[in-house]
Amino acid sequence: MSRVTVFGSINMDLTVTTKVMPEQGETVLGEQFATYPGGKGANQAVAAARIGTVVRMIGVVGDDVFGKDLLNHLSSEGVDTGGIYQLSGMATGTATIIVNDHDNRIIVAPGANHGLTPEMVYKQESLIEQCDVLLVQLEIPIETIGAVAVLAEKHEILLIVNPAPYQKLPETFLERASFVTPNETEARMLTADDPWVESKLITTKGKEGVSILVKGEQITVQGYPVEPVDTTGAGDTFNGALAAKLSAGTELNESVAFANAAAALSVMKPGAQSGMPTTKQVLTFLQ
Ligand code: ADP
Repeated sequence: MSRVTVFGSINMDLTVTTKVMPEQGETVLGEQFATYPGGKGANQAVAAARIGTVVRMIGVVGDDVFGKDLLNHLSSEGVDTGGIYQLSGMATGTATIIVNDHDNRIIVAPGANHGLTPEMVYKQESLIEQCDVLLVQLEIPIETIGAVAVLAEKHEILLIVNPAPYQKLPETFLERASFVTPNETEARMLTADDPWVESKLITTKGKEGVSILVKGEQITVQGYPVEPVDTTGAGDTFNGALAAKLSAGTELNESVAFANAAAALSVMKPGAQSGMPTTKQVLTFLQ
């Protein structure tokens, strides 16, 4: 059975809609409040699990009600949560999102996500080394991403680095990545900082689809003309689905084409995770 390990953030998104944005010092009455499981790591783990691969997640939540809820949620999605630490004295990561018609304002409190240390990763080496694909984003400490890169190289495991939200990584980490998967904005910053990365770049381009630039060969995979309802989590769906397909030994171009279709399907439903499709739904869409 193919296996993916996702290293990353686990957040609860707290969303409130309001007709009026509060000014400084002002309190307003809002409308709907809702909580959604989020965090790039957890989103990508769920996306990969829906495709039908065995997914293990490594991350940290707090010993609070959100942490408990998120662990239960990931388990219910079929993600193996055995590698997730629940630490007391830490708050689970949250994103507080204020939405009105014209604007949204977001505050991310990384909380427990910043508690994922390199030691926690190395401790799980014996399970990590059994994996076919490792997948990481940049919402956990940089030195921990470094530990993932070290293990990927040591055990010769395919490593996908999704450089989101963008920050410059040490060159040695990127050298160890098999593929780097920015969106267009991240790609501009990444290739300005590290032009050599172009030899392993898979860039998502929103409705335009995906461009693959690997070992000097450029391929464009056209996007699907769908009616987007909510594009939150599109990139996460793409990365999770890509990892799932590559872990099953599917060749690169076919894996990217599949992930492109999965991501297009995901934007047709609200929320980051609710629209993430199963393999069956992707295959029906492609018929
Ligand atoms: P991110 O969500 O990280 O900003 P993108 O916007 O590039 O990433 O979207 C990731 C992928 O999701 C795209 O490559 C494409 O497959 C799909 N996608 C996103 N927006 C649309 C859209 N409007 N129509 C069709 N597919 C989309």
